[in-house]
Amino acid sequence: MTTAAILVAAGRGTRAGGVLPKQWRILAGRPVLAHTLAAFAALAAIDRIVLALHPDDMARAAPLLGDRITAVPGGATRDASVKAALESLVGQGVTRVLIHDGARPLVSAALIHRLLVALDTAAAAAPALPVTDALWRGAGGRVVGTVPRDGLYRAQTPQAFAFDAILAAHRAHPGGAADDVEVARAAGLDVTIVEGDDDNLKLTYPGDFDRAERILQGRQMDIRTGNGFDVHAFGPGDHVWLCGVRIAHPKGLVGHSDADVGMHALTDAIYGALAAGDIGRHFPPSDPQWKGAASEIFLAHATALMRARGFRLTNCDVTLMCERPKIGPHATEMQRELARILGVEEDRVSVKATTTERLGFTGREEGIAALATATLVGA
Ligand code: MG
Repeated sequence: MTTAAILVAAGRGTRAGGVLPKQWRILAGRPVLAHTLAAFAALAAIDRIVLALHPDDMARAAPLLGDRITAVPGGATRDASVKAALESLVGQGVTRVLIHDGARPLVSAALIHRLLVALDTAAAAAPALPVTDALWRGAGGRVVGTVPRDGLYRAQTPQAFAFDAILAAHRAHPGGAADDVEVARAAGLDVTIVEGDDDNLKLTYPGDFDRAERILQGRQMDIRTGNGFDVHAFGPGDHVWLCGVRIAHPKGLVGHSDADVGMHALTDAIYGALAAGDIGRHFPPSDPQWKGAASEIFLAHATALMRARGFRLTNCDVTLMCERPKIGPHATEMQRELARILGVEEDRVSVKATTTERLGFTGREEGIAALATATLVGA
């Protein structure tokens, strides 16, 4: 199953005020479209993201693009832009697609997941909220009638579809549709209504930006801390691996993998912050394929899981407990190696060491212990 998201951001709409089209206006420090993109990019369930842009904006979007994020020039109308983005995904094994307004930056992960669940049993699903206000018909500034609101919904995006079905529907549509649900229905697709989200507003008028800023400020930053602890015993050998660095030593460390006690503690700290168990759960020692494995595999896995859950590491701190080898001469290289695997700046990674004053098993040089703390922030 390959899931793509299309963010439609080709419009020139300036009803929201300002000289820039609304998807490029700055909201809480970055362009509206960057917020929208981040909401999708944070989710492991989204494999590909296509931005449908005005041809004049292709250069402006360059900093937003990456591995799974591409851009296509949109057309003169919304449905032409969506069609261009759909065509760009043809032949890439995409099975599901979410089509979203670039100017709805507050879309939540929960809403996206509701849509993906609905797609398990439907070819099309879209979010909406029941109309609760009374509806009037007006003319010349006066009420000239009321409209029954029963069965009326306010439509939102993302609208979610089986890829082949919505591609065929767009190819067959004459154009001029208000949204992709209209295109889908014209092709005879049944569209399941999924519960929308009041905060998922489409930025249209100047006041919408103020409301969006307030919602963003009100969202609690999700900060998580995890700790990890590990011990490996000394055995025969001529080197040890500590925090990804090979150090010559008259003894080795005994373990199923390369016994890198520092990297194991750090890996467990990240799993801990995610409430995702420990190394043993993800890499069972009973599984022979991890015998002698470089511990980088474990740390890289925890890092990938962290990103998939929408978190980034703000800092980590590893303490190695041993009399020997001396860690100080290697600490900078260890820091650099861990930062490389974690994909963060070196000043976010601390490696330090202590002896235990010749007390206990580390003091008797029977083994090495390591303690690590990691702090993650919701991206
Ligand atoms: Mg271990």
